[in-house]
Amino acid sequence: MIDELVSYNREFVKNKGYEKYITNKYPDKKIAIVSCMDTRLTELLPASLGIKNGDVKIIKNAGAIISHPFGSVIRSLMVAIYVVEVMIIGHTDCGAKHMNSSEMIEKMKERGIPQERIDMIRYCGINFESWLRGFETSEASVHETVEQIRNHPLIPSDITVRGFVIDSVTGELTPVE
Ligand code: ZN
Repeated sequence: MIDELVSYNREFVKNKGYEKYITNKYPDKKIAIVSCMDTRLTELLPASLGIKNGDVKIIKNAGAIISHPFGSVIRSLMVAIYVVEVMIIGHTDCGAKHMNSSEMIEKMKERGIPQERIDMIRYCGINFESWLRGFETSEASVHETVEQIRNHPLIPSDITVRGFVIDSVTGELTPVE
């Protein structure tokens, strides 16, 4: 599977497929978007918002959540500190909603991760229940993420943070108040 992508890449570069994407590293719109890694959103999210290469910073993970106040999402927002607006975009039918730590631990064990290692990590202070948690509704999760950013001690208070849920099929955005 990766080999297919690598050989496509050789053709892409050879045929100068990149030319229409050339831009610089500074975003044209001072917006950062935090969204879900769901594959249905890969093209739909930018297309439905009219975002082109070079426009905005997009930070993605499973569920568009902030699992740690000093984890990689906040770190990425720190790097993009010159942005003035942050959009949190959850989506309908999000798979991360159903995340469940005990089911995931069972899957880890099926894939050969020994119980002793899981116990050891728990002993080291990792709380699997909170780290691998899902959420009740996309709206509630987006609301929580918006609040986490608005109340973060290192995020300037003049940054606008707004939450939305995008329809995974039509791309329709619904604001989360
Ligand atoms: Zn999702």
